[in-house]
This record gives sequence, structure tokens and C-alpha cells, in this order.
Amino acid sequence: MRTSLVIANWKLNGDLALVKEMATHFAGLLKDTTTTVVVCPPAVYLKAAEIALAPVNIKVGAQNCAAHTDGAFTGEISAQMMRECGASYVLVGHSERRAIFGESDDVLAEKIARVQESELTPVFCVGETLEEREADAVESVIEAQLNAGLAQADFSNLVIAYEPVWAIGTGKTASPEQAQEVHAMIRRWLRDKAPEQADTLQILYGGSVKADNADTLFNQPDIDGGLVGGASLSPEQFDAICKAA
Ligand code: PEP
Repeated sequence: MRTSLVIANWKLNGDLALVKEMATHFAGLLKDTTTTVVVCPPAVYLKAAEIALAPVNIKVGAQNCAAHTDGAFTGEISAQMMRECGASYVLVGHSERRAIFGESDDVLAEKIARVQESELTPVFCVGETLEEREADAVESVIEAQLNAGLAQADFSNLVIAYEPVWAIGTGKTASPEQAQEVHAMIRRWLRDKAPEQADTLQILYGGSVKADNADTLFNQPDIDGGLVGGASLSPEQFDAICKAA
């Protein structure tokens, strides 16, 4: 009932040469798959990536957007501008945005609204730190993030990504059972808040997904694909992860 989705988050990495490499590597590979594949390069490469990757069935997305539509916000890029540059998805609330750039729940809720107003799909990221996991607070932390960030969201155009902070870029992956437990909890939360979308909304896992662990993670009943950082910079690795989905 849900198709798979795999999203590459290049973060502050990659260049035009990598865009080209991806296009060459994926030529013909995604013809017969129901999996949606998305690459989120740095925003300046969005248009070039869209042009190069659309012919090989890869969509593009933005890693972030402004909480505003326009105005005196030097350095910011609006969701509508991302759309004009070819984006179909926008990541919102990645733990690096929350922790390094201090993005609050209120700002993230604004960003979700801007993305949806622009008819793009937000990929809302949630996840607990190691301290929160060790304090047995996973469920309450994730629930609080969902309640705050998605208070006004349109659930018919949304993806949720569960990314335990301790697994991002660390090489430590949540076990398939640990990940499934949280995904099932998110789905229960959805049943309460948006019953009509609870069975159709895609929930991705992110956190050191690699070619050799993707299969067991994606086989879990409530894991509908992945949000992939480091491994998405290698076309071969990323391709293997897409195949696992
Ligand atoms: C991410 O940046 O969203 C991520 C999951 O990174 P990595 O795969 O490198 O852990």
C-alpha cells in the first residue's frame, strides 16, 4: 500500500561532477522500479541536478528552506525558489539544522507551512539523542517533535523521517528492531492525528544507512525507505541502497 522512497542528503558535499556521475551511473537503472529516488544536493546545484537527473528518473530536493516567503533575509532561499529550481521535496528539521543552526520547533512548523504552500513535499525529520535514549525518553521526545512541528501540517503531502541523532554520520545504525519500534510508534501517533493518512504516509529511516544494512532495515513493516547521508555520495553505494528498497 506504500511505495518506497530513498532520499540522498549530500549536506555540504558534492559538486557538478558528482551530479554528472550520478546521472551516468543511474542511466536506465530506475526504469522498472516503483521506488522513488530523490537527491538533495546543495541548493546552488538544484537546477543542474534536475536537468541531469530527471532523464534517469531521479527527482531533486532541497536540504532546507527559509521560514519566510520573501523580504530582507540575506542568504535565505524560499521554498518557492527551490521549486523554481526543480525541487520536489524539502528536508525540514534535520538534526544538524536543529542542533547547529538552532532551529526551534516554531521555526520548523513555519518551514513546513512554507513548503506545503509551495506545493512541495516536506520531509520532516525527528530523532532522539543518545542521552534521551538512555533516559528512556525516546517516545516522549519524538512525540513532542511531531506535535510541535506538524501542528498545522497537511498530512496528505508529507513524509516523516526518523533519524536517531546518535546514528547520523557515526557509523552506528539503529538495529532493525529499534528502528521498527519507533516507526510503529510514529504510525500509532498518525492514527490518532491523521487517521486517513496513517497507512499511506511514508516513514523513512536515516542514520548510517549503508549498502550492507539497508536490506534488513527496509524489510521492517513500518520502514518505507531511507534518508541517506554519507553513503549517498557514492553512486555505487547509493544504487545498492535504492535496490534494497
Ligand atoms: C543524514 O544526514 O540524514 C544521515 C542520515 O546521514 P548518514 O547517513 O551519514 O548517517
